[in-house]
Amino acid sequence: HSSNLQGYAPICSGQEDFYIRRLYHRIQDCFGRPISSAPDVWFDIVHRYSNDHNKTMKRTSKVTRCLNLGSYNYLGFAAADEYCTPRVIETLNRFSPSTCSPRVDGGTTTLHKELEECVANFVGKPAALVFGMGYATNAATLPVLIGKGGLIISDSLNHNSIINGARGSGATIRVFQHNTPSHLEEVLRQHIAEGQPRTHRPWKKIVVLVEGIYSMEGELCKLPEIVAVCKKYKAYVYLDEAHSIGAVGKTGKGVCELLGVDTADVDVMMGTFTKSFGSCGGYIAGSKELIQYLEYTSPAHLYATSISPPAAQQIISSIRVILGEDGSGRGAEKLARIRENSNFFRSELEKMGFEVIGDYDSPVISIMLYNPAKIPAFSRECLKQNVAVVMSAFPAVPLLLSRARICISACHTKEDLLKALEVISQVGDLIGIKYSLAGSNKQ
Ligand code: PMP
Repeated sequence: HSSNLQGYAPICSGQEDFYIRRLYHRIQDCFGRPISSAPDVWFDIVHRYSNDHNKTMKRTSKVTRCLNLGSYNYLGFAAADEYCTPRVIETLNRFSPSTCSPRVDGGTTTLHKELEECVANFVGKPAALVFGMGYATNAATLPVLIGKGGLIISDSLNHNSIINGARGSGATIRVFQHNTPSHLEEVLRQHIAEGQPRTHRPWKKIVVLVEGIYSMEGELCKLPEIVAVCKKYKAYVYLDEAHSIGAVGKTGKGVCELLGVDTADVDVMMGTFTKSFGSCGGYIAGSKELIQYLEYTSPAHLYATSISPPAAQQIISSIRVILGEDGSGRGAEKLARIRENSNFFRSELEKMGFEVIGDYDSPVISIMLYNPAKIPAFSRECLKQNVAVVMSAFPAVPLLLSRARICISACHTKEDLLKALEVISQVGDLIGIKYSLAGSNKQ
């Protein structure tokens, strides 16, 4: 990446190359690797090195029990669950870990059909198609939805799977300023006239790509405004709800429910099962015609092994719990808890003087560090006190917008959150990242 780093000199004058290479090795070495079998709220981390100082880096197999602030286990379903787990085990016995077959060959079981119906009902669309991998859902769907002669207008901070799907489509790609409906409108106006019928313009199709909650920022999509612009210019809306489905909304149905958007106004609803549902795979939900078209054309449907039956069962069961169909009331409790936990954690960090980005109600909470050199220090100092945090660094985010990204779970107890806040506050003072006036270490 060194050729892109001309502007980096002020931090480490004349040594950009060396600095960055060293930084990247340090970041990898300091992280440690989670080794627990399930991403529970507390988990085991294996340290690859004990390396307080450069000179004395030693390989070690030390294992520490850590508070997990890094996984997308928003509702806590990734850990053993009294309703889901027995059903998953039963499915494992009845079917098998894998169908060893794409959907169109031998890979469609009754469970796959049941899952698709369940997902379509949950997200509020007439039909859905499920895939074995969330990343591939975007990467393989976009190229069949839109191709050469089409126009994609993509939020500047969209996930890599969306970017690769858009690039693979062969459509013309334009980028609009992150979460800025007025700039989206400006870009649309540069390419078509307002009110021009779809059949009379130079693009076969125009699709606008956005996310429900932006995964590195924790920001909610300005969906009502974006939908209004798309309606005005007759552009299709493609919404990735990987981080919002199950996690926000009164009954967990994502940003449409939270922000009062009619799901009929979102043409393609995409999501993954790897976050709120504690499983794996992804889905596309939309009209019956759209889903039938994808069944005929999507390479992820035609050529990839279908979602594993136990994983499918995990999704069906967790959705039942969310909807209260298990009769325990735990779904509503989890939804209330994730909201309460996220908002409590965010407001406490703000009070401490951290620069926290993103929105209230989002379980993704990013603390800005800016200086990439502070990444290893933050991660290591937290880990020393048994708190595991994921750091977001270049190239996932711009080089000088480094941040610590915290993911809150409904399973975090008040004690867990208070411990994490205490540790993060101490580390913030130590490395000097309390930037706002509220903080003790004003800069
Ligand atoms: N879309 C978004 C917005 C994501 O953040 C991710 C991954 N975190 C994906 C898609 C890919 O999903 P998966 O990890 O389930 O493959």
